[in-house]
Amino acid sequence: MSLIYHKRYLDHILTWGHPESPERLNAIMNKLDTVDFKPEILTPEPVTDNDLKSVHTPEYIELMKNFGEGWMDPNTYHHEESYELACLAAGGGLLGAKLAYEEKRPTFVIPRPPGHHAEAASSGGFCYFNNIAIAAQNLLTRKKSPAERVAIVDIDVHHGNGTHDIFFNRKDVLYISTHQWGIYPGTGPAELTGEGPGEGYTVNIPFYSGTGDSSFKLAKQQIIEPILKQYKPSIILISIGTDAHYRDPLASLALSSAGYLNLAKHFIKLSKDLCQSRIAFFLEGGYDLNSLAEIVNAIVANFNNNKYELQYTEQLDRDCAGENVVDKVVEVQKNYWELK
Ligand SMILES: [Zn+2]
Repeated sequence: MSLIYHKRYLDHILTWGHPESPERLNAIMNKLDTVDFKPEILTPEPVTDNDLKSVHTPEYIELMKNFGEGWMDPNTYHHEESYELACLAAGGGLLGAKLAYEEKRPTFVIPRPPGHHAEAASSGGFCYFNNIAIAAQNLLTRKKSPAERVAIVDIDVHHGNGTHDIFFNRKDVLYISTHQWGIYPGTGPAELTGEGPGEGYTVNIPFYSGTGDSSFKLAKQQIIEPILKQYKPSIILISIGTDAHYRDPLASLALSSAGYLNLAKHFIKLSKDLCQSRIAFFLEGGYDLNSLAEIVNAIVANFNNNKYELQYTEQLDRDCAGENVVDKVVEVQKNYWELK
């Protein structure tokens, strides 16, 4: 598994002291220096205007170019260089998705700024351009052997409202999200399942505070795996935020590092079974530096068959606190998929 990284990702400073800080990537890269394995690290190019236009409106792209200094929304501050850096972040996504799709080389993209809250015509939640949506769109519209179906699984603690909305009426992109209900951005109830031709191709799993490993495992078994198997994606893209970890300061789901690693292993295995190992991970949020660095390194190490000692493995949800939520989502999604 290769890492996609650019040292200019460190130049993005939302505001001083902000949790979505360059220290996040420094923590990942410093941890990498202390372990035996050395994954390949690839440097991306920025996306083009055409790539941006495949997802974002021309008016919003112009706004990003010319906004200057100031708040674009209550959570997202724009600097002179934000447009350029956001293009480089989206470029990381394109490179990761391209290698995974064309060469069947699994990748882990660690872009800053992140992307899943960015909508077609607006920024949101520390996101400017929607990295994973631009990558999905690129794969679906390639001239040479385009992807037929892209599955996006979003396990950030926040609902990926941008990705959700961009593909809400499409069936060539399946969007599955686990998230904490009742926090930012407030979207993603189980009942929303897509519309028009996209009906049934949006799967929201809104967990309550305190939900952790055993419930995610149940959601994987009862919902995520059977739906992915029936959807038969050409590639699986994962929006991975490590902010569903119990150490995260911004939210209160309770996944452990082992829980994250197990989910990642499972997605990698599914990509092997369903789409010739075509899988790319896209980093979204995650604000506890230690668990963030541990999870990213553990996934990359594990894939490359290296041992990695996990530190943050407390099991805070042994008894499926999220079982009712899983049952409810199964009831809703049974209208579209064969689920037990
Ligand atoms: Zn998040």
